[in-house]
Amino acid sequence: MTLFDKILNKEIPANIAFEDETVLAFHDISPQAPTHVLVIPKHKWMRFADFASADPTQIGDYIKAVARVAKELGLEENGYRVVFNNGRDGQQTVDYIHAHILGGRRLSWPPG
Ligand code: AMP
Repeated sequence: MTLFDKILNKEIPANIAFEDETVLAFHDISPQAPTHVLVIPKHKWMRFADFASADPTQIGDYIKAVARVAKELGLEENGYRVVFNNGRDGQQTVDYIHAHILGGRRLSWPPG
């Protein structure tokens, strides 16, 4: 069981930004931008490839929910970045798929 399973089960507290039947969104404990929220699907996939192999309806529901959370966070007008760190080289540290939503400042590119 990962840290994010425990946050989803409310066994570990988190600063929850949004929740519906599809996703849970909570503020990152180590924010890298003025707004840094993680969005996890309630259906668990570990890696991006697992998610990409899922039912298209589930894929659509999750992606739409990520966009909705960004909008609810007030990031729609100025923009934001969505990041899926994946696997070792992608620096994925929690084996539960999560979208990072970063915004609130002009982000640099390329990432490190
Ligand atoms: P990743 O490196 O893509 O796997 O992202 C994991 C993210 O989870 C990091 O940005 C961490 O800062 C964040 N994180 C770790 N523990 C917690 C926690 N207890 N609550 C919220 N975010 C966390």
